[in-house]
Amino acid sequence: MKITFIGLGNMGGGMAANLVKAGHEVHAFDLSAETLARAAENGCATYTSVREAVHGAEAVVSMLPNGAIVNSVYGADVIGHAPASALLLDCSTIDVDTARTVADAAKAAGYAMVDAPVSGGIAAANGGTLTFMVGGSDDAFTRAEPILSAMGKAVIHAGASGAGQAAKICNNMILGATMIATCEAFALAEKLGLDLQTFFDISSKASGQSWSMTSYCPVPGVGPASPADNGYQGGFAAALMLKDLKLALEAAQGVGAKVPMGTRAEELYAAFTANGNGGSDFSAIIKTL
Ligand code: NAD
Repeated sequence: MKITFIGLGNMGGGMAANLVKAGHEVHAFDLSAETLARAAENGCATYTSVREAVHGAEAVVSMLPNGAIVNSVYGADVIGHAPASALLLDCSTIDVDTARTVADAAKAAGYAMVDAPVSGGIAAANGGTLTFMVGGSDDAFTRAEPILSAMGKAVIHAGASGAGQAAKICNNMILGATMIATCEAFALAEKLGLDLQTFFDISSKASGQSWSMTSYCPVPGVGPASPADNGYQGGFAAALMLKDLKLALEAAQGVGAKVPMGTRAEELYAAFTANGNGGSDFSAIIKTL
């Protein structure tokens, strides 16, 4: 299949490489020449504009930083320029309203489109083990599934357009809050004189268990290998966690939902990134507790 890939950064680079490995002809565009050179090394054909890259595409996949960029790239250079038969898949994490607006504009021009944000970081993008949460019609989902499966271990239909983004921000609101709660508990355990490995052994098998505890333990040398063991580098940047929490709060405000834990998590990550820690892994917030 001829697939155009737009935005081959930390996440998109590995995802596009996995599409190539699955036998697809990948046509890549990114604003960064360095990123495009890496895409070429991974077997992608590279282009100097979105319009050239989407020419003749059977599917267009994007992995871009935010909603404003997704809106402008699709509005200016994808919709009306890719063949109307092309399936459009936006895998970026963006706000629900923009996801719906872009999908509506695409549908009005005759395209099928899904929002398909991911769970899993750079390692999962490289390893083809992402989880995709997909918003769109049944038909669009059926067409999207085999393409997304080449980049992930799970592809789940969340509902209509925007539902993928809704699932993603709700999921990450849990993640932000549970990471802080897990960090607090380790800090308290230490002050109470508990051995931290022992506390992990107990809590990871007790009711304090969560992904933040068992798969991503914020304490160096405790639990499975995680960014804590690597000086809190790599992994999921605190700035991206803050971005997702802001999207969750914005969405909550839009529908009048009460999210006190999400609100507190956003405040703590905002303070953490304002102190110059935006590039650290989000589990590094333990250092402030
Ligand atoms: P990134 O900054 O590494 O990559 C984004 C790429 O988009 C860059 O290469 C940039 O040059 C390119 N780009 C920006 N504007 C463009 C434009 N107008 N046209 C073409 N290319 C353009 O970011 P990332 O870490 O790969 O994240 C991408 C998306 O994935 C974000 O929405 C992020 O929230 C989401 N996400 C990231 C992670 C993670 O762990 N990094 C995990 C899950 C989801």
